[in-house]
Amino acid sequence: MVKLKIMYSMDKLPSCNFCQDLTKNRTQVVIGDGELNPDIVFIGEAPGAQEDIQGKPFVGRSGTILRNTLAELNINNYYITNLVKCRPPGNRDPTESESKNCFPYLKLQLKKLNPKIICTLGRHSTSKVLAASGKEMKTITDQRGSEVDIIIDGKKYILFPMYHPAATIYNQKLKKTFISDLKKLSNIASI
Ligand code: URA
Repeated sequence: MVKLKIMYSMDKLPSCNFCQDLTKNRTQVVIGDGELNPDIVFIGEAPGAQEDIQGKPFVGRSGTILRNTLAELNINNYYITNLVKCRPPGNRDPTESESKNCFPYLKLQLKKLNPKIICTLGRHSTSKVLAASGKEMKTITDQRGSEVDIIIDGKKYILFPMYHPAATIYNQKLKKTFISDLKKLSNIASI
C-alpha cells in the first residue's frame, strides 16, 4: 500500500479537518496567542468552551489563573498554545489520534517561535513533547518543576513541565506548587 505523506502548513490550520469529531463540534480552531519572539512557549491540553468561542487559548477559568500569575511574576515574553487546537466536545481529554494528528502543527509553531523554554501544562502535553524527543514520561508529579534537555527536529529546548492550572482550582497545595514552579521558570528564563 502506498502511504501518502500529508504536508502540514500553518496556513491550512484554520480549516483543518483531520479529526472529524472535533471539526464538526468546534466554533473555530484555536491556534495560539502571545509574543512572536518568546522566551517561553506554554503548551496546554486543548481549548475549552471559552477558548472555542473567543479563538484564544487560556481565556477561561484556568487561563485567568495562568495569565494573572504570570503578570504578578512579571513574566511577559511568552506565547501560549495547546497540544490540540480544537475543543474536544464536552471538554473530554483529547484522544491519542487527535494528539497525533495535531502534533505536526505544534512542531511548526515551535520551529517558527524558536523559544528557549517549552513549558508544558499537565500530563497530556508533557508526555507528548517528551515522546517527540524520544523520552518517556514519569508521572506529572515526578516530572513537574524540573528542567529536561530535549531535542525536537534537531533543535534543543529546555522543557519545564508544570501542573495544569485547572488542577490548582480546588487544591491550595497544588496552587502553591504551581506558583513556586512559575517562579523557578522565571529564573531559568532570565539566565
Ligand atoms: N485548558 C487548556 O489546556 N487549554 C486552554 O486553552 C484552556 C484550558
